[in-house]
Amino acid sequence: MPAHIFSSKGPRLENIAIVLASPKNPGNVGAVARAMKNMGFRDLRLVNPLSLTWQDAIRMACGAEDLLEKAQITGSLAEAFADIDWVIGTSARKRRYNKNVFLPREIIDHTVSISHKNKVAFLFGSEKYGLTTEEISFCNQLVSIPTQKNFSSLNLSQAVLIIAWELSQAQENNYELPYQPKLASHKELHDLFLHLEKVLMEIEFITEENSRHMMLSIKTMVRQKTLSSREVKILRGVLRNLRRSNKLSSANVEITNCSQ
Ligand code: SAH
Repeated sequence: MPAHIFSSKGPRLENIAIVLASPKNPGNVGAVARAMKNMGFRDLRLVNPLSLTWQDAIRMACGAEDLLEKAQITGSLAEAFADIDWVIGTSARKRRYNKNVFLPREIIDHTVSISHKNKVAFLFGSEKYGLTTEEISFCNQLVSIPTQKNFSSLNLSQAVLIIAWELSQAQENNYELPYQPKLASHKELHDLFLHLEKVLMEIEFITEENSRHMMLSIKTMVRQKTLSSREVKILRGVLRNLRRSNKLSSANVEITNCSQ
C-alpha cells in the first residue's frame, strides 16, 4: 500500500466529540447522552447550557448519566474547541449558508480519514434558533439530514442519533483512504485570524466598521480548506514578512517626504 494511503475500520469514535451550542432543554441533553452511548460515543461538550438543573437530563439519559457527569461545560465555543482540529456543523437549513452542505453519508470517508490523527467535533445548534452565523463561522463543513422539505427540523437528540448512527455503521466497513496529516488546530487557526486581521487593518483592506463582517467571510473561506499545521505556519510567515515590508515601505515614504 502506498505510504500516503492508510487502512482503517471506520472513524475513531474516541476522537469525535458532540458539542451542543446553548441547549435549552435539559431533557434533550439527557437524550443526547443516551443516543451517544448507544452508538459508542463518550465525549459530550455543552456550551452555555441554559439550565443547569439536571433532574430532567438524568431522567432522559436512562443509563448514560456517566456521559453527563463527564460532560465538559464551557462558556464559549472557542473553549469547547480548544483541542479540536475539524468542526462539522449540523443544520436543517440548507440554503441559508454560503457553504456546501453535505449529506451525512457524504462526510463519512473524510471523517474516517481525519479522525485517525485529529480531533473532530460535530456541532449542534440550540433547539430554538439552530446554529447562529457566528457559530457557523467555526465550522469547516456543514451537514444536513435529509427530511421532508417543508418540515426539516428534527429534535436535537434525534439529529445527534442519526449522525452518531451513520458514523457507528461506518465501523463495519474497511477503508483505504488518503492519509490526512495533523491539521491546524482550532488555536492555530484562531491565532492566524488575529494575525490576518491585524495586517488587513494595517494595509487598510478592512476598517473598524466592516472588520467583523469581512473577517466572518474570510474565516468561512479559510475553514473550508483542510489546512495542515505546517501550512498555517507558512501563512503566518508570509504575514510577518508582509508586515515587515509594509513597515519598510511606509518608512521609505516618510524618508521621501522628509527629503522634499
Ligand atoms: N429551530 C431550529 C431547529 C433547531 S433543532 C432551526 O430552524 O434551525 C436543534 C439542532 O438539531 C439544529 O441546530 C441542528 O444542529 C440539529 N438538526 C435538526 N434538524 C436537523 C437536520 N434536518 N439536519 C441536521 N441537523 C439537524
